Amino acid sequence: QAKADGRDRWCAYSEEFDRTFRHRQSTEADLREALLTETGIEVYYQPIATVSSGEVIGFEALARWRHPTRGMVMPDDFIQVAEASGLIVLLGERILRQACQDAASWSPPLRLSVNVSPLQFVQGDLVNMIAGALADSGLDPQLLELEMTEGVLIDDASGTLLLLNRIRALGVSIVLDDFGTGFSSLSYLQHFPFSKVKLDKSFITDMLENCDVTSIVKAVLALSKSLNIAVVAEGVETSAQLELLRELGCDQAQGYLISRPLPINGLSEILGGIG
Ligand code: C2E
Ligand code: MG
Ligand code: MG
Ligand code: MG
Repeated sequence: QAKADGRDRWCAYSEEFDRTFRHRQSTEADLREALLTETGIEVYYQPIATVSSGEVIGFEALARWRHPTRGMVMPDDFIQVAEASGLIVLLGERILRQACQDAASWSPPLRLSVNVSPLQFVQGDLVNMIAGALADSGLDPQLLELEMTEGVLIDDASGTLLLLNRIRALGVSIVLDDFGTGFSSLSYLQHFPFSKVKLDKSFITDMLENCDVTSIVKAVLALSKSLNIAVVAEGVETSAQLELLRELGCDQAQGYLISRPLPINGLSEILGGIG
């Protein structure tokens, strides 16, 4: 009996494993197809505003995938597959090029943030790719900022520093994304040429209920200020959170309270509303 149970469980497990495996494989094949045929990959934009006045100063570009049968697929359901398969290098370039092209026509000119995957630091020629996207779009390099996570810093700190300095030399700024989630070390803020840090959503979600979290937010703000690094709060959903961030002196905010990510044709109201 025990043996039969174990066997059933094993079968259930292996079927589940099989399903997951097949799903990943078809996601990869479909994503490759989408990239090769240049259909279905879209860029959405989420506003980033100053905390003090609420003025929108820029947008973060976020990848979206309009799948022929699955509908709109979100990054959590394809970025990992893209990274594991290496497709992220091509996907990252597509997103950057499209976003630079879009941002080059924004009036007034606003900042553009684009996410860069760790794999893009080791595969392909990241610096020349960025230079090409800037040249082809005509976007002012001073308006572009690249968001990276701390994973890149751990793997090859000295190689990464060289690359980051070459990117900075183009006039582009570097932003540390999701700060506080991984193996964040406060010393990263000083060792790498970041102009901005994005405080992870989890801190913003918890800071009103948990004063230990508030203390961490305060400490990051104090350290960043002394290092001349701006801080963006991610995932701001309530006006109470925004109010506390204002009290604490946080520079910028991004979140559903301000706006969800929007398709390019949804930006006109925000772009037109300023200036
Ligand atoms: P991220 O770079 O930290 O982007 C912020 C994510 O938080 C976005 O999710 C955004 O829609 C979501 N968000 C913003 N405000 C709120 C809020 O108030 N509440 C909640 N619950 N969520 C909020 P999204 O677009 O699903 O992207 C998820 C992640 O996928 C991104 O996290 C980024 O790591 C990755 N990603 C997205 N686009 C790209 C891309 O073009 N390249 C690379 N390498 N990664 C990307
Ligand atoms: Mg980001
Ligand atoms: Mg983030
Ligand atoms: Mg995040």
